[in-house]
Amino acid sequence: MDEKYKEYLQSEEWRKKASQIKSDKNHKCEICGNQILIEVIKIIKDPFRESALIEELNRFTETIEEKNWDKNKLIQVHHKTYENIYQENQDELACLCHPCHVFFHEATQGNHWKKAWDLTLLKVSDLCEEIEQLDKRDWRLQKIDFSIGLTEDPFPEPELPIHLFPEIDEDETDWESSDDPIEL
Ligand SMILES: [Zn+2]
Ligand SMILES: [Zn+2]
Repeated sequence: MDEKYKEYLQSEEWRKKASQIKSDKNHKCEICGNQILIEVIKIIKDPFRESALIEELNRFTETIEEKNWDKNKLIQVHHKTYENIYQENQDELACLCHPCHVFFHEATQGNHWKKAWDLTLLKVSDLCEEIEQLDKRDWRLQKIDFSIGLTEDPFPEPELPIHLFPEIDEDETDWESSDDPIEL
């Protein structure tokens, strides 16, 4: 990465451009629709989740945990091509989740970006198929609503019940009458 490009990625101009792309795309990964990202979160949250995916996706758990539900970090903007660098057209930039962004860069090694994009789509669609099969078998996931997106932790720690019973105002309770036999 040259210095000028590095500076550009730190600039206000790029920050604005990138956040515009992300909000245009609703913070959804263009490759997986956030399914891969959510799978990594499931792996983080569920030590019993078993799948062949775990090896493929485990390497993202630490980085994703560090991003601490910041959707602006979990979702990233990628340059498909550097042809118009600094004056990019909208379609030269892609909105990707962190794991798909890494997959895409791995696929770019020695490949044109269009080929790399197709390879990444293929890989991700295989992974998503596996995820769907896994979820079908996992009854624990059937109650969880994944449509909530990235604004909050989809697997919050369960809140401890503070009051198991509604508070009773003792002054107003007629304790004596409660012992009366009930007439039917
Ligand atoms: Zn993705
Ligand atoms: Zn990139």
